[in-house]
Amino acid sequence: KLQGGKSVCSFYDADLMQRMKREQELNVQFPLSLANRDFTIHLQPKVYLRDGALGGAEALVRWNHPQLGLISPGDFIPLFERNDNICQLDLYVFEAVCATLRRWMDEGQPLVTVSVNLSRAHFKNPRFLDPLSRLKAQYRIPDGAIEIELTESTFFNERQRELVQASIREMHRRGFLCSLDDFGVGFSSLALLQEFDVDAIKLDRQFFNEIANPKGQTIIASFLSLAKKLGIHTVAEGIENQAQADYLLGVDCDMIQGYYFSKPLSIPEFEQWRLTRPP
Ligand code: C2E
Ligand code: CA
Ligand code: CA
Ligand code: CA
Repeated sequence: KLQGGKSVCSFYDADLMQRMKREQELNVQFPLSLANRDFTIHLQPKVYLRDGALGGAEALVRWNHPQLGLISPGDFIPLFERNDNICQLDLYVFEAVCATLRRWMDEGQPLVTVSVNLSRAHFKNPRFLDPLSRLKAQYRIPDGAIEIELTESTFFNERQRELVQASIREMHRRGFLCSLDDFGVGFSSLALLQEFDVDAIKLDRQFFNEIANPKGQTIIASFLSLAKKLGIHTVAEGIENQAQADYLLGVDCDMIQGYYFSKPLSIPEFEQWRLTRPP
């Protein structure tokens, strides 16, 4: 029995060692990959439930790794959040979004608000909005065309509360919208709505497993109605089927984002897809 336990343990160690080795490799490769522009963005549409019109898009990063192929953010973002590589990567994504919006304007394509994810790691640097403003000016991006998504976890750190509040005011002053991502995963979600002046909340995907049960429905409906009363837009994330969409339309959710309408698309795919939408 002892031996069995021991072998399980060393198997686990070997697994862990391999994972650490892989992580270290990804960290080492990061600067070169960034310089080589091996990172790309995909855009996932946000769609108005009331008429199916395009309401915005979220930029999601992908790593086109020379040896490993396309890697999804779940495999490297948590890693890069530990050593602040994420700050450089977020900035790269932000610039890619600016370049895309600029091109749409130059080509006379309609503008749609694009949101970018900002890791909470940025809040360690009180001037983190400066490079974003600089890029916004450099690419001549109008106010309201870029939305910054902050995850609920950013708001939890008590010491950061003041800073986050001030940063949201500053974002608005500089012409950015701000949304609260992964809403409802934490336990103080409702308090956050009162305290922080966000433009939108994105209800986390995990909620919508619950629409089958009445309790879950009550919770979703009350979040949505509270947000509405506070003048905050609501986006439901990870919507995969018609039943979920129908339900959300019934409880007056503004927009949905999910495979039901579209998975995240490459930029050329997104430009094609938007042509199929009502104006
Ligand atoms: P997120 O911000 O919550 O983004 C939504 C994730 O849900 C995306 O995963 C998207 O592909 C996925 N998704 C969308 N619709 C559906 C659906 O109907 N069903 C299911 N099962 N999934 C759906 P993705 O692209 O793998 O990104 C994962 C996470 O990585 C993101 O979660 C975000 O937290 C982070 N991330 C992605 N890009 C960036 C970035 O540029 N910067 C930072 N800091 N984080 C990023
Ligand atoms: Ca997000
Ligand atoms: Ca989310
Ligand atoms: Ca999420």
